Amino acid sequence: MEQKGRLVVISGFSGAGKGTLMKALLAAHPDRYALSVSATTRDPRPGEQDGIDYFFVTDEKFHAMIKEDDFLEYAGYVGHYYGTPRSYVEKNLAEGKNVILEIEIQGALHVKEKIKDAVLMFVTAPDADTLKERLTGRGTETGDVIAARLSRACEEARGIENYDYLVVNDTVEHASELIDTLISDERNGNASDNEAYWVSANIDFINQIREDLKQFSKGE
Ligand code: 5GP
Repeated sequence: MEQKGRLVVISGFSGAGKGTLMKALLAAHPDRYALSVSATTRDPRPGEQDGIDYFFVTDEKFHAMIKEDDFLEYAGYVGHYYGTPRSYVEKNLAEGKNVILEIEIQGALHVKEKIKDAVLMFVTAPDADTLKERLTGRGTETGDVIAARLSRACEEARGIENYDYLVVNDTVEHASELIDTLISDERNGNASDNEAYWVSANIDFINQIREDLKQFSKGE
């Protein structure tokens, strides 16, 4: 019988390149992964499509969905709500696919409480300078929003210890294949092969990024 899929939570600083990584992972292994599409109350960015990037909903609709218990988890992030529709996740796990949730840290921790064998991965750019460049270079956010997101990144950095793996997004090809290997090994009971990527093995590197982010958010 098909083994039930694993729930995989991917978080990371704004600008770490999670979205690009997930697209590469799905394109390379469409049979193994399903990407959950979240609902959000924020406005679409140019090029984003309803039902593909997010389900863009009103505050009223979002609250109605909370009431109906439609979300596996939801959270507020820099002035808007984001939530994971439950039904898609449950259906795909039952079909044996690994389901990817690209969500922020509060949601990730809720998921881990509810689903003990969820695998939590934190994606970062190779250093804090690259993060800032990617955020600024995206050109879709105002200075205030970038500042708010950098400050939120500082906060999130405090929660990294709750994650299982740290993935450095050096190149899209390398990082997306690494994610596939980590998940496959988890599923096959070989997680100990990948100790070098455990968060617990990367604390010094994480502390350095944390320190740099703190300096940025002070405006230095
Ligand atoms: P963005 O506005 O840049 O698309 O997303 C902002 C943050 O919300 C990102 O950290 C993203 O991972 C997170 N996010 C997106 N969808 C969800 C969701 O369904 N639940 C939670 N908790 N966070 C989400």
